[in-house]
Amino acid sequence: MISVAVKRKSFGAQTVLQDVNFDIATDERVSIVGPSGVGKSTLLRLIAELDRDYEGQISTVKNSAVVFQEPTLLNWRDVMDNLRITTRKDDRTLENILAEVGLSDKSDMFPSQLSLGQQRRVSLARALAVNPELLILDEPFASLDDEMVDEMLALTKQVVDTRNMALLLVTHTKKEAAFLTDRQLMLGGNPATIIQ
Ligand code: ATP
Ligand code: MG
Repeated sequence: MISVAVKRKSFGAQTVLQDVNFDIATDERVSIVGPSGVGKSTLLRLIAELDRDYEGQISTVKNSAVVFQEPTLLNWRDVMDNLRITTRKDDRTLENILAEVGLSDKSDMFPSQLSLGQQRRVSLARALAVNPELLILDEPFASLDDEMVDEMLALTKQVVDTRNMALLLVTHTKKEAAFLTDRQLMLGGNPATIIQ
């Protein structure tokens, strides 16, 4: 389904990734685990085709959706508008997706009126609105309290199961990786490569 062969990714003189090679099969769930600053988000940006400035080759599905590590919701638009901006789906469909992530009653709230966990759900809903074959999540559980992490873990598993998507998850925590994915890739070294 996707095939990653990054020979080298540099920022100026700093080479961040070197010889990062792996494949993800259809419906497979894979996590990337590694220390802060190792190059995980950089790698996801390459896979999402947001950055083409690297040596190597990545082939991926057209229909993928990324939930980024940094918040990307529009704060001056309510929840429904944040979904409408992403896709031409009708409101009925978008409301169903909000229900899928447990936010039926939040459609006219603004992101600043939501908890971090709820904002993450909106971002997830926005990703789901394009019906992706591959869902890419960058640290979706960071900075949440334990209870919220468990809720988000269960929700993510349910959504991926129900929709039969492939999943590429970046996380710091092996517990989360083990719960959600079939295979864990460790990214390490400087420049970073798959070490396990
Ligand atoms: P974290 O777990 O903290 O999110 P990460 O593994 O996602 O870390 P990246 O954000 O991919 O790490 O960053 C990897 C390295 O690349 C860091 O040294 C960072 O400073 C550098 N880097 C990332 N983006 C840029 C950029 N646009 N310009 C220059 N250097 C960058
Ligand atoms: Mg990152």
